[in-house]
Order: sequence, then C-alpha cells, then structure tokens
Amino acid sequence: MMKFISLSFFAIMTLMTLQAPALSSDEKLVIAHRGASGYLPEHTLAAKALAHGMNPDYIEQDVVLTKDGVPIVLHDHHLDTISDVASKFPNRKREDGRYYAIDLSLAEIKTLKAHERIDLKTGKRVFPSRFPLHQSHFEIPTLEEEIELIKGLNQARGKNIGIYPEIKAPAFHRAEGQDISKIVIDLLAKHGYSTKEDAVYLQCFDWNETQRIRNELGYKGKLVQLIAENDWNESPNVNFDALRTKEGLSSIAKIADGIGPWIPHLISPTGQSNDLVKNVHALGMKIHPYTLRADALPEWAKEHDAVLETVLFKAGADGIFTDFPDLAVKYLQHKNQAH
Ligand code: CA
Repeated sequence: MMKFISLSFFAIMTLMTLQAPALSSDEKLVIAHRGASGYLPEHTLAAKALAHGMNPDYIEQDVVLTKDGVPIVLHDHHLDTISDVASKFPNRKREDGRYYAIDLSLAEIKTLKAHERIDLKTGKRVFPSRFPLHQSHFEIPTLEEEIELIKGLNQARGKNIGIYPEIKAPAFHRAEGQDISKIVIDLLAKHGYSTKEDAVYLQCFDWNETQRIRNELGYKGKLVQLIAENDWNESPNVNFDALRTKEGLSSIAKIADGIGPWIPHLISPTGQSNDLVKNVHALGMKIHPYTLRADALPEWAKEHDAVLETVLFKAGADGIFTDFPDLAVKYLQHKNQAH
C-alpha cells in the first residue's frame, strides 16, 4: 500500500512538474498584429501564413462586414488605404470621399488588389521600409478563409496558434442594419472557438458592445476590452479615461478577461511604468498592450528589444501586439535560455 501511495505520489509530482507553469517568459503572449504586418501587407493571408511560421501565440484579425453581411478581415471599415477600390469602383465613394466596405458586396471586394497601407494625402506608404507597393498579388480575406488557414496550418505544423479577432465599429454596423457581433460569434462557434479553454481572445473598443457580447449574446470565451484615447473617436460613446481608473477596471473585470491598452497607457514618455498593470492584475485580469513596431519605436526606447523588456518585464504586461512577431518570439526564447 505504501509503495502504491509513494508511486502514485511520485507520478503525481512528475505530472505536476511537467504541467507546472513554465518560466515567466513562456507565459508572455506574442500577438501577431494584423499578421506579420511588418513584412507583408496587413491582414492578407500571406501575412498570416508568414506570422504562423514565426510561432506567435495568437494572430490578430480586425473584422468588418461587407454589404451582404460577410465578415472580412480589414482594419478600417474603409477600403481606400489598403486597396485599389478608388480606381475599380470610383462611383462608390461616399460624401466624405471615403470607400466603405459595407457599401460593396463580397464579390466586389474580392476583385480588389490589396496593398501596403498608404497615406491617402500623399499616396505613399505609411511605413516606407516595408513591402513595396503594387507588387505581387494580395486579396482581402474573409474571416472564415483566415480561420481555415490558421486551423489548417495548426494541423499541418502541429501547433495550436490562436486567433484574436476584433469586432470593429459595432455601432456603425448596427446603423447600417447589421449585427456584426452576432455574425462573428456564430462563425467562431462554428469553428470551435467558444469557451475560455479555446485558443481565442475576442476584443472590442466599444464598452457597451463588450457588455452586450457577454450578457446578451452569451459569448463564453475570453474577452478583452480595448482602451483608446478619447480623442481618437474610436468609440464616441465610451469614456476610456474613466475605464482606466480602478473603478472602471473593476467594472471591466466583471465582464472581460483582460484589457488591451496602447503602450503609452502604461509607459510614460520617459519610459517609466505606472500602476496600470498592477491594478489590472489585482482584479485577476490580463493586459496585452498594442502596438510594437520595430520601424516606429516609442521615443523613450533606444532599440527594439528595450520595448519588450520594459513592457513585458519591467511593467509586467502579459503579452504584446507586434507587427514583428519573429523578433518578439526570438527575444523571449533568449530570455528563457538565460534562466
Ligand atoms: Ca485591432
């Protein structure tokens, strides 16, 4: 009997060792922001496949709807900064001079050529050292095409890289007669992304919508409340400054599993961290700041890795959105080997 107990005890201890939380740098999530967008046009399937090969923990999707209600992966609900929509459909411009995804059917959007993000005023690339304009061929993917790509690569490569979709502009979509959250949640469920154990974080800036996703639509997976600056007009009915206070955070904690602030919300212009991470952790939530760009570093950072060290280890954030997932994965591997 004693032998049985001690053997079982040994077996349990072995299992516990195997399943023990990994070293701290293993727990930091690398989230490929719009794919490997530092290297290929954002949100194209090519950028997502390249990101997958870099072994991040999650790959991000921004989601908007087409006129026929199909979720597509696109950062703005405009098409003009990343495609040739203005030359293909010149008469579909709205009064504000912009081309909206919701005004085109999926079949029409599929005829567009996607490219690196441009500044509409200059027509030049926002990030001049990235992939050249008008080279090769890229399309705007549907959310389902992207999910199939990531799940397929997970199977082919023996990985479990997660998805990190963002519901964009839900109030805008509702005004256009579309319930984007319901459509996205149903698609996620169809593909097995519906519980907190599944490799998915669903994110949204609109605090009213985040609450609706949990309470009315009954979504049970991990949820992240994104935090903007009020003057970005990201979600005009939300006071983001209030959401960042301890009181605001505790109301988020009743609904969501984490927050997604931008880096300056936790690191000052001189590179000092504040109490935001501590306050978020005290409520049992995670914090995944955005966005690290090797070609557009914060002024306080002398080099790329200093941002990772400051955000993930000095400030203690749980993960980071980056346009350069390979650099973050490499940094965390070195950090682990140093332990
Ligand atoms: Ca996003």
